[in-house]
Amino acid sequence: MIDAALARSIRLVVLDVDGVLTDGGVYLGAVEGQRLEFKRYDIQDGLGIHFMQKAGLRVAIITGRVSESVRLRAIELEIEDLAQDPQAQKLPAFLAMLDQHGIAPSEAAFIGDDFPDMAVLRLVGLPVAVGNAVPEVKAACKMQLTRTGGHGAVREFAERLLTARGTWESVTEQYVAVRSLPMLGNSR
Ligand SMILES: [Mg+2]
Repeated sequence: MIDAALARSIRLVVLDVDGVLTDGGVYLGAVEGQRLEFKRYDIQDGLGIHFMQKAGLRVAIITGRVSESVRLRAIELEIEDLAQDPQAQKLPAFLAMLDQHGIAPSEAAFIGDDFPDMAVLRLVGLPVAVGNAVPEVKAACKMQLTRTGGHGAVREFAERLLTARGTWESVTEQYVAVRSLPMLGNSR
């Protein structure tokens, strides 16, 4: 259970990609000399991100790999804050996001799984480890998720965070309510 005051103080939720939004697997190949990289995402994680956004939280992605797959997934999720650093230097990107939006490190949560996440995890108010995180990352985090990356970890976080903030039921009910009207089209 997250402390309610801490949960309510969070304004920014930052997600790692490999091992958090995915199970860490990467499909690498080439077609007619064109390098292709594919990742597999969890649809329930996507809805969890949507719920956090609806609850007024800013959701961001910071990854230490560069791939078109992540750019496309960020567009799908309506995530504007996306940083892909080929050297896995996540801290400068994180600090730039804080600066851009006027958010303090203590008002941020970061969900990670491995050593590239450590510098940011040590800085944020709510450091979170997925179920498949390495022991050192788990030890550095205030919150350990049961579910693993690419298999509902982000959804579990969304539910636990919004429950602690007291908004999980209203956000999910609102989602169902706008889909319970027979006449209207999509309204996200
Ligand atoms: Mg990772």
